[in-house]
Amino acid sequence: MTEFDVVVAGAGHNSLITAAYLARAGMRVLVLERAARIGGDTSTEEVTLPGFRHDLCASAHTIFQSSPIVRNDELELGRYGLRYLFPDPVVVMPFLDGPGITMHRDRAATVRDIARHSPNDARAYERMLDDWDLIKDSQNRARYSPAAGPSDAIAALEATPAGVETVRWRYSSALDTVRERFENERVRTFFLWLSLMTMARVDQPGTGLLPLSIAAGRQAFSWTTAEGGSVALPDALARIVVERGGAVRTGAEVTRILIEHGRAVGAVTSDGAEYRARRAVVSTIHVKHLPAVVGGAALGEDFVRGLARWRTGVTMFVTHYALAAEPRYRLDGGPTSSVAAGICGSTEELLAALAAFERGDIHLDRPPLLCISSSVVDATRAPAGRHTLKIVGFLPYELRSGGPERWDTVKDDVSGALLEQYLRHTSGLTERDILARHIESPLDLERRNPHNYRGSCHGGEQDLAQEGALRPMPGWAGYRLPVAGLYQTGATTHPGASVTGAPGRNCAQVLLEDLGIHFADAVAGRATSSRS
Ligand SMILES: Cc1cc2nc3c(=O)[nH]c(=O)nc-3n(C[C@H](O)[C@H](O)[C@H](O)COP(=O)(O)OP(=O)(O)OC[C@H]3O[C@@H](n4cnc5c(N)ncnc54)[C@H](O)[C@@H]3O)c2cc1C
Repeated sequence: MTEFDVVVAGAGHNSLITAAYLARAGMRVLVLERAARIGGDTSTEEVTLPGFRHDLCASAHTIFQSSPIVRNDELELGRYGLRYLFPDPVVVMPFLDGPGITMHRDRAATVRDIARHSPNDARAYERMLDDWDLIKDSQNRARYSPAAGPSDAIAALEATPAGVETVRWRYSSALDTVRERFENERVRTFFLWLSLMTMARVDQPGTGLLPLSIAAGRQAFSWTTAEGGSVALPDALARIVVERGGAVRTGAEVTRILIEHGRAVGAVTSDGAEYRARRAVVSTIHVKHLPAVVGGAALGEDFVRGLARWRTGVTMFVTHYALAAEPRYRLDGGPTSSVAAGICGSTEELLAALAAFERGDIHLDRPPLLCISSSVVDATRAPAGRHTLKIVGFLPYELRSGGPERWDTVKDDVSGALLEQYLRHTSGLTERDILARHIESPLDLERRNPHNYRGSCHGGEQDLAQEGALRPMPGWAGYRLPVAGLYQTGATTHPGASVTGAPGRNCAQVLLEDLGIHFADAVAGRATSSRS
């Protein structure tokens, strides 16, 4: 038996951020990760061929750039090896039947590109970015503050210079927003597809701010790419924990949270090892799995009942490719390479795909795709002259015919159909350029990381239909679970999924406050924990 100040179950970027702040506050932290590698959905692995480093899930660390962690360099992540690249172009969308759309790093260049489709829409784009400028501070504050109530979120919006109108934006759908602001079908398609990038049901009320927030974020920070792979972020965080006397263990699945006299005092792993925590236990185990690990009785009836209505977000189907050539997209200015590309023929195609998703069907008739080639800007991702490619489709976990298990028999064919759709939009790339591939269906995503509950890394937004925010359940005040000394972070807590670092930082704030330590002191690295 080994004793630490805090034991953390799971090593995704969020729980590692919590761990890093605690370590800076002088605590000895142990992080236990079930997988063989840390990172969760920010892992990078050679899943195709040696030398090809694939981001298994997240590639864009764009939202993270607006966090106080990066803006104020609170964790000095650069010192621990993290470096970001800001690709140009940001993202391209080729169309088979006419000119495509390119978002450039330079805002004026993007505006000029949109003006080719519609001068009105070019002005509307500038207006949309300006509108976001009016509210972004309030939105950022809400994201990087421990969960506030829904009325606080509305009040914050109302208090912005854009006033009560913003509340209407928020409660409409992303589809309403793009139809209201833009007239050209291709421009609408581009912004609706972009809104889908946080896996929200973009035709549902409550997603209305996504076209503003995602477009503005990408315009400001591009498809932010971590040099060396997404895993550079968790790797940097783990170094902070270790440097300050903590430890990170992999292959260590937490199967039970130890509770004594109503208080969380440690964790037990699947091999029976027991790790004691003097001050607190932090979990990033999916909330749906908590009753099995913590015990339903300890969590309380209200909490467990609240879990029953937790709903997953849009799920993904991912294929990673090792390529012998650089992918280039068919754009009217000539074949163009880009880290990020969106494939989507029209808003109707996207809505048809979402409708099929809701039915549990595998929709392969002109499916929308997200395509990422990080090697275009990052030479460390592939051998010289070679490239990585990730093609993401938006397909359901629970198949109407055959359930999730059917994925194992159909995934090769599905992957092939998505590739065919992809290749139509590229120039000169053929199946002969494919050296190897690795497929992860929604079922595989859950198998690799159970925090992708039913294949979904998002979810929990349904209660108030608001951007990425899981409202606290009865008996759950912020990041404190209903057991003394037990805290929850990660994508199932406010403000939800994506690489934001917000759940991790917010959880650290709450925990440190409970221990009587000023967060600012932890940031400054000057707090000293009294070890009992
Ligand atoms: C295919 C895909 C593409 C994505 N692309 C993007 C993108 O480009 N940009 C973006 O911002 N977001 C993206 N996302 C979403 C984003 O990656 C996640 O929302 C985010 O990384 C979640 O981080 P987390 O720290 O909350 O949890 P996770 O990264 O899920 O980490 C949780 C960790 O806990 C571990 N764990 C779970 N249970 C236990 C247990 N019992 N014991 C020990 N360990 C346990 C897991 O193994 C995992 O390592 C993508 C997601 C997917 C699936």
